[in-house]
Amino acid sequence: MKILSAEFLTTGVSTDSWPSAGPPEVAFAGRSNVGKSSMINALCQRHKLVRVSNTPGRTRTLNFFDVSLEDPSGETAKVRFCDLPGYGFSKVSKTDRRQWQEMIEGYLAKRQPLAAVVCIVDANVGPTEDDARVVAWVQSMGRRVIVAATKVDKMPKHRRHPRQLEIARTLVLSPAEVVVVSPKLAINLEPLWEKVLQACEAAKGSPAVASPASR
Ligand code: GDP
Repeated sequence: MKILSAEFLTTGVSTDSWPSAGPPEVAFAGRSNVGKSSMINALCQRHKLVRVSNTPGRTRTLNFFDVSLEDPSGETAKVRFCDLPGYGFSKVSKTDRRQWQEMIEGYLAKRQPLAAVVCIVDANVGPTEDDARVVAWVQSMGRRVIVAATKVDKMPKHRRHPRQLEIARTLVLSPAEVVVVSPKLAINLEPLWEKVLQACEAAKGSPAVASPASR
């Protein structure tokens, strides 16, 4: 993919601070430190669009980014990314956990342009219980899930495909719904982009899950 532009748009917490509906939207979810910022930066071919940090759980808001791109066939497309706050439930208070859940639930339930959620798991660790819960929850909200199993550069090449199958089995998904990736070494970023664009295309033809009052 040729990225034509990638820009931070705005930050939002509650419904009234979300940007008005624009291009198809794809959200990114993952536990803190899983490599979510690195993934968004790599997809956008930018180093510092999203801050890469080792401090878990610092982002407490939804961050929106607008991306324009040209695909290999020369078609241009616009996608809006939404960076969801990382989770790491064992480390946070019940109040924080409830706030996180309420904010994301509102977004998943009401956000009309949302085409898919990229759920990021660490390919080396495999899906944690929190990861599995989040994937099932996103699906239960009627949203399409794409699993990106990241940091696959740490794993020998021959382990990558078996790990993709294992992760799909654990999360009760088809292997086609799981991509093993490495933002660090730019492994499989194109297949991940293709899935993102397919989801955006599919969403154009299907009615939104959201209610009429949603944005
Ligand atoms: P976030 O908290 O989920 O946004 O995670 P970050 O993108 O800040 O990454 C957390 C840590 O994982 C950083 O030290 C990154 O350098 C590292 N990291 C991210 N992606 C990769 C990857 O593909 N391979 C390797 N080996 N490390 C990565």
